[in-house]
Amino acid sequence: MFDIQKIRADFPILSRQVNGKPLVYFDNGATTQKPQVVIDAIATYYQEINANIHRGVHTLSQLATDAYEASRTKIQNHINAQFAHEVLFTSGTTHSVNLVANGFASLLKAGDEVLVSALEHHSNIVPWQMLCERTGAVLKVIPMNEKGELVMEKFDQLLSDKTKIVTVNHISNALGTINPIKYMIDKAHQFGAAVFIDGAQAVPHLKPNVQELDCDFYAFSGHKLCGPTGTGILYGKEAWLNKLPPYQGGGEMIKEVTFEKTTYAELPHKFEAGTPNIAGGIVLGTAVDYMNSVGFENIQKQETELLNYATEQLLAIEGLKIYGTADAKTSVISFNIDGIHPYDIGTIVDKLGIAVRTGHHCAQPIMNFFEIPGTIRASFAFYNTKEEIDVMVEAVKKAKMMLF
Ligand code: PMP
Repeated sequence: MFDIQKIRADFPILSRQVNGKPLVYFDNGATTQKPQVVIDAIATYYQEINANIHRGVHTLSQLATDAYEASRTKIQNHINAQFAHEVLFTSGTTHSVNLVANGFASLLKAGDEVLVSALEHHSNIVPWQMLCERTGAVLKVIPMNEKGELVMEKFDQLLSDKTKIVTVNHISNALGTINPIKYMIDKAHQFGAAVFIDGAQAVPHLKPNVQELDCDFYAFSGHKLCGPTGTGILYGKEAWLNKLPPYQGGGEMIKEVTFEKTTYAELPHKFEAGTPNIAGGIVLGTAVDYMNSVGFENIQKQETELLNYATEQLLAIEGLKIYGTADAKTSVISFNIDGIHPYDIGTIVDKLGIAVRTGHHCAQPIMNFFEIPGTIRASFAFYNTKEEIDVMVEAVKKAKMMLF
């Protein structure tokens, strides 16, 4: 059963004070807090099995390799990938996007088209722009409406035989919109285009099923689902990963090296040059286990309650506007108060122990769409409570009074 006090006790940081007040942590979209099992697993790795992987015959090296590969298999099962070698360890979503965008340089020619959505984080825009600059391909944007939803009629019209890849997030970090990715994947496939899904904001809330989605690539960061920073995953269909050239050259990713020619290792090693974040990769598996032990049904139930309650309470404040009112939405609320800069509110509520994000959330095109400099973003996790929302709402009211 979901016992919120028991869950909160798993996260040591939640009992600390900030600026003399109990911490209210509502910046989960940026990174989630870590449970004690994850913190302990990092220490255990370094205390007991630290060694380089895939290289040594000695026992520690084998123990570390087994733990690293067991984590890969765990993540394969979690996202329902067909093969473990379709699951690549990266340093995060940003690394995963760059790996694929870089690889596509060898497949695109001038005049080909890359479709990106208007709802993207900069890390799912800039690498594709760089790809287009390199190849002469054209970047086209799937527009959004006032509710922060992608406009599917426009998406349908943009697709053509020139479309080589469509890239879209599963859930928007700035607005919380859940995008209709299954529809988009199926539609893009009718034109032979590959589909890249940025799942950075989805994996903390749901369990993606990559085979059911039939996406070609799915990326996410470990630190947003209670795992360590500097960890991430790129899922890619075997056929695509075999087609793409390696991203980085170095140790581990080769079959044979001579000065005349190098041949590359099989998947997944072809894309994992150098010594990886071994502890991080192993502990990402611990984090996935932890999330599953809480249970995604429980996570969704708690977060939906928090989202509905916070939306209602915030909207009762006069002059407050919420950006992103999509029908399908996760526990992210982006808002502003008439005539007040988001930064000023963020600064005052921080003094009261509340961590919210202010600014453009690495999604400047979305802010430009709404013609605002930024928003205040409260993003909730399953370990947050309604009482914490009350604290935030009171703090926002107080900030409003002080700033008017
Ligand atoms: N995409 C989305 C939707 C995100 O929210 C983020 C992180 N804010 C990223 C990509 C980039 O993730 P990372 O910084 O962990 O590489």
